[in-house]
Amino acid sequence: MLAGKEQIMRIGIIGGGPAGAVAAAVLARRGHQVKIFEQEVFPRFHIGESLLPCNMPILDDIGISHEVFRAHSYLPKHAAFFEQAGSAKIARFPFADGLPGDPTSIYQVERSRFDKLLLDNAVAQGAELVCPATVREVDLKGDLPLIHYKTPGSEGQETVDFVIDASGRDTLLARQLGTLDRANDLHRAAVFGHVDALPLVPGAERGDIVISKKADVGWSWQIPLEDARWSVGLVLKRSAVVSGGGPADVFRNNLVHFPELAVRLAGRIPAPVRSIPNISYRIRGRHGRRYAMVGDAGGFIDPIFSSGVLLATRAAWRLGTALDAGGADADLGPWAKATDHDLATFFAFIRLWYDGHFIDNLFFSGFRTPAIYQGIISLLAGNTTNPDNQFLQMLKGRIAAA
Ligand SMILES: Cc1cc2nc3c(=O)[nH]c(=O)nc-3n(C[C@H](O)[C@H](O)[C@H](O)COP(=O)(O)OP(=O)(O)OC[C@H]3O[C@@H](n4cnc5c(N)ncnc54)[C@H](O)[C@@H]3O)c2cc1C
Repeated sequence: MLAGKEQIMRIGIIGGGPAGAVAAAVLARRGHQVKIFEQEVFPRFHIGESLLPCNMPILDDIGISHEVFRAHSYLPKHAAFFEQAGSAKIARFPFADGLPGDPTSIYQVERSRFDKLLLDNAVAQGAELVCPATVREVDLKGDLPLIHYKTPGSEGQETVDFVIDASGRDTLLARQLGTLDRANDLHRAAVFGHVDALPLVPGAERGDIVISKKADVGWSWQIPLEDARWSVGLVLKRSAVVSGGGPADVFRNNLVHFPELAVRLAGRIPAPVRSIPNISYRIRGRHGRRYAMVGDAGGFIDPIFSSGVLLATRAAWRLGTALDAGGADADLGPWAKATDHDLATFFAFIRLWYDGHFIDNLFFSGFRTPAIYQGIISLLAGNTTNPDNQFLQMLKGRIAAA
């Protein structure tokens, strides 16, 4: 039986996005036999382009250092900038003003390039990529997981000691096991795409993500991927998207709620405009005997604070580390607890964003102490565990009371 640090494990990973690629790199460089099954040939389009500073130590650890980012000309991100649509209210949170010890910068990334960089890195560390290969199902009934997959023109099977589902929003294992749960869905949907250069927002600096909030409507993002290529998107009530016509009509017609963005776009809209109709969902139980789900395959919350890639790669890094230390039968309870904590903390922050005026007062009216200001920045950077974070303590109180 495989167990313990000395054993080489056969690991099957479904999906080569950030979660799959990070888990693969962590395990492959420690000598495990890792196979990644990816259905799409990279580079491929993906949304989710603004990283958080706490991503840096994870990426650094697997070999994607600041030097690598710089060598690939990614745009540094030093702050998150918020504005209240239709008013003059703005708030800029520079990561350098956060709590001591937090990383102070990260990068904006065009995901087609970035995901390929991560996947190539996993292969360079020793993982094998099977691509294009679509996993159909995983037989979990036997002693060992058996992965059934399809490549163009053939079918294949692979027995592994442990299977990691990193299939993103396809949520392959959760669908197979019937554990996808939309009970806490915030009923939001998104329309988005890329445009050429946008003007710098007054008060913002080059590289900032700009988030505009419109009460009772939703929010919009502007992310500079390069100086002449920006990601723009609207997150709206799902009903507004579903009944609003095609994605381009929804985008164009809802710009009326975001007048500053409309002025910056000056009549342009992305081509194409893409849409995602269901943003958030939960998975009941993210692991079981010889399997675990990471990243979007293990649940997804609203992307307002750009937490997706961080939470995906952090869960993947921790899972790889736990499996390497404990073997295929490792106790994944502590891993699940840490992952649950990450998701619950950001979910509470997101609820505050949508509920009432609490966040508006904290963000836009300056109604906050220096300690709360630093704490907000620390969480915006992705640190969910700093015991000195007074804003986090406030959030925890709200989670406990909910
Ligand atoms: C509107 C919107 C805006 C967002 N903005 C941000 C942001 O600014 N910052 C941020 O950090 N996050 C953002 N996110 C979230 C981010 O996109 C995800 O959290 C992140 O991509 C998760 O990575 P992942 O590896 O889990 O999944 P993915 O990146 O989706 O990768 C999954 C991979 O699995 C492959 N796959 C799926 N099924 C199979 C199968 N059966 N067989 C083989 N391969 C399979 C897919 O082809 C894909 O390559 C946003 C999300 C949305 C919806």
